[in-house]
Amino acid sequence: MDLYEYQGKELFRRFGIPVSEGRLAETPEEALAAADELGGPVVVKAQVLTGGRGKAGGVKLAETPEDAEAKASDILGLDIKGHVVRRLWIEKASDIAKEYYLSIAFDRGAKQPLFMFTTQGGVEIEQVAEENPDALVRLHVDPLEGFQPWVARRLIYGAGVDDPNEQKQIASIVEKLYRAFVESDAMLTEINPLIVTPEGEVKALDSKFTVDDNALFRHPDIAEMRDTEAADPLETFAREKLDGDVGICGNGAGLSMSTVDVVAHVGGRPANFCDLGGGGDAEGVVDALEVITRDPQVKSIFFNIFGGITRCDEVARGILAALDRLDMSAYPIVVRLDGTNAEAGRRILAEAGKPNIYPEATMLEGARKAVELAKK
Ligand code: GDP
Ligand code: MN
Repeated sequence: MDLYEYQGKELFRRFGIPVSEGRLAETPEEALAAADELGGPVVVKAQVLTGGRGKAGGVKLAETPEDAEAKASDILGLDIKGHVVRRLWIEKASDIAKEYYLSIAFDRGAKQPLFMFTTQGGVEIEQVAEENPDALVRLHVDPLEGFQPWVARRLIYGAGVDDPNEQKQIASIVEKLYRAFVESDAMLTEINPLIVTPEGEVKALDSKFTVDDNALFRHPDIAEMRDTEAADPLETFAREKLDGDVGICGNGAGLSMSTVDVVAHVGGRPANFCDLGGGGDAEGVVDALEVITRDPQVKSIFFNIFGGITRCDEVARGILAALDRLDMSAYPIVVRLDGTNAEAGRRILAEAGKPNIYPEATMLEGARKAVELAKK
């Protein structure tokens, strides 16, 4: 799960990493009020789950509250790499003397967290890695050994930071970022830029924070951050509009796309497809059903679930819970469950006795059923 900048910064703040004060705004009026409250110049920042907002015109300085209002109306509604801006983070503007980069990513190959640090921040890290690889310090942390103070020193000296005042602050941020990474079950925590102000203060001006979906159950406070985002499921799902009558939902992009082929193979016409992703909770199913049924051509719905880490019994319960919340009686819903706990899942569906649910065990049988029902 990717967090918005303002959410990542909230976590940074909790772990003691210095960030600027800010407010959330969804309208130009709210941006004006926020800037007024903060006082002085502010930065108006698009909150979208993609980088490069600055270059795309999604980050703008504003001298006065009126200016912030104007910049907010420029940025709201902007399309940044396919993400429409609906929310802004209004932050006290900082003066910047230097822009550094600091991140921790989980390195799957090494099965260890990997620190990266460079004084060449502000630009995309791939660019630094390519053009100036010597400037980028990379350092793994052995999770059994845990964080040791020498890790911070190696990063700082390796990148050539020689100001003792900066060294001290960065060492503390490095240690706190590691704690934030481990204690939040993060896959990535990135600060770009990590700035030094003309007064010598070091702080995080941006945040990129990804939490392992499979650990969200341990972090209800973080999981909750997603719920506020469920506003437009069209945006959260990879969705493809086709022109048939079978709505398709799989878990995983590959399976969803294969399902489109199989439905076509048995003589049906897919209407659209969406990817349930790794989850199968009621929230995800409700979102998926809303996306699928937004298309008036849809006559039947085909859930094609292959349980791996996602358990079929969980998905079955998610589907039933979703049907308690949405009226889907107009749609026959074929549910193919295979893989982890598939039998339990099919039993749960059968026992629920919903007349419009058709459990199936194979993808081919499920597709045939969904196509047949769409024709009725
Ligand atoms: P990104 O483009 O999505 O990575 O968004 P960032 O939050 O990193 O902002 C992009 C750039 O805007 C930064 O690299 C800074 O150069 C600039 N910026 C952001 N906040 C401030 C600020 O408070 N003051 C100044 N002067 N520049 C800022
Ligand atoms: Mn950035």
